[in-house]
Amino acid sequence: MAEIAKVGFCLPGSLVARTTRCGNSGCACHTGPEKRHGPYPSWTRRVAGKTVTRTLSAEQAERYKPFFQNSRRLKGLVEDLEALSVRVVSEAEGWANPLEG
Ligand SMILES: [Zn+2]
Repeated sequence: MAEIAKVGFCLPGSLVARTTRCGNSGCACHTGPEKRHGPYPSWTRRVAGKTVTRTLSAEQAERYKPFFQNSRRLKGLVEDLEALSVRVVSEAEGWANPLEG
């Protein structure tokens, strides 16, 4: 719990490298996947069931990368805390460990 309190800002979704096509239909990027622009760092996440993508500058990607790492770290810590809580509650109640039967 002390580790969770220290995590800091967490960004949902993931930081990936994506290629894009621009709005100019005459541009070479519309002629094939290998002609697309980029790859650029981009942030994708699900918002209300839809994938939202935001293209980042290299500098923004560097700056926010720790926030994605924080998110993964927080998820891991929550899983650990849940596993510990299940063990504590099961021991307190005399419930069998479901993995041991
Ligand atoms: Zn283009």
